[in-house]
Amino acid sequence: MLKQYLLTPGPTPIPPQIALKEALPVIHHRTSEFASIYKDVAEGLKYVFQTRNEVYVLACSGTGAMEMAIVNLLSPNDKILVASCGNFGERWAKIAQSYGVETIYVSVEWGKVLDPLEIEKTLKKNPDIKAVFTTFVETSTGVASDIKSIGKIVSQTNAVFVVDAISGLAGQEFRTDDWEVDVVISASQKDFMLPPGLAFIMFSQKTQKLIELSRLPKFYFDIKKYRDFYLINQTPFTPPVTLIVALQEALKLIRNKKIENIWNDCKRLARAARAGMQSLGLKLFAEVPCEVVTTASVPENIGEKIITTLKERYSVSIAGGQGKLKGKIIRLAHMGYIGKVDLLAGFACLEIVLSELGMDIEKGKSVAAVQKEFLG
Ligand SMILES: *Cc1c(COP(=O)(O)O)cnc(C)c1O
Repeated sequence: MLKQYLLTPGPTPIPPQIALKEALPVIHHRTSEFASIYKDVAEGLKYVFQTRNEVYVLACSGTGAMEMAIVNLLSPNDKILVASCGNFGERWAKIAQSYGVETIYVSVEWGKVLDPLEIEKTLKKNPDIKAVFTTFVETSTGVASDIKSIGKIVSQTNAVFVVDAISGLAGQEFRTDDWEVDVVISASQKDFMLPPGLAFIMFSQKTQKLIELSRLPKFYFDIKKYRDFYLINQTPFTPPVTLIVALQEALKLIRNKKIENIWNDCKRLARAARAGMQSLGLKLFAEVPCEVVTTASVPENIGEKIITTLKERYSVSIAGGQGKLKGKIIRLAHMGYIGKVDLLAGFACLEIVLSELGMDIEKGKSVAAVQKEFLG
């Protein structure tokens, strides 16, 4: 049995302190014991989101929280703007369209970054747009969007600004209130160092009017139910208590370390990962690379093989391209509990595998490049 190295952009590895919490006996969710844990978790989430608004915990993956945003803000035939630079941006449009919401697009080629001025122009041309949806870290391409600039633009209109920060939140600098973001979504299995299964969602004051007017069908994801139960430190339906107990521990680790220190660590890991890829002759794929996952173009004849060989031979998991990028890029994550040693191990194995698959690689080159960044 080989030791696992999980260097994928979700799920990510779990620290032992957190895993131990998951082994504790299940507690009942209608108890003061649970309420006090939930209260602590709610405060911790506000800190990580950098917001004064309430953050709700949901029992679903991140996409469930995306759907929750749409069904609580909109009505049939409402018009929205989806600003998309990859697979996850497109998901916003797919969900909206399945509910009969009219979608206007601002999009760029995958790998490129969105231009906030395009969003501004489109909003001016369509003053009836109710909400702008975009992605913070577009995990499918490794690009980070300029949420601060887009937030400034949207805040001057009647539209609300909704951001999928499923990847990136708790890893790369993100300031919900300062950047005037109205709905922020995240999930447990990326930078939060938890298993999959939880999603988080925050709504600002500006969203209240839309929530009142919203006529899209909803039951499990009705924000009003979560708001009522939040007041008594509970959730409307049976929550995954085990994951919430683990979340409390994760938030404690994050608060003890301080979010700014986590941002700095991710920045350094990202620099090292980029240097590692380039030293192997691989071209970085993202026009504006994020700090939690590094993407690089690979020869198409070995693209898929790199991923499967790494896994089978060395038990190292990295991700390949999604959708139209399948076989064309590799994605190596440095979020959550993934650290310097994981990165060194990952690159050491990646080098061997690229050689085995026929690329001319000088041994130790990427490891040296990563080490140099760590020293510098
Ligand atoms: C991982 C990810 C998702 C998908 O979330 P699920 O938890 O699989 O539903 C959506 N958006 C982004 C940016 C992601 O990184």
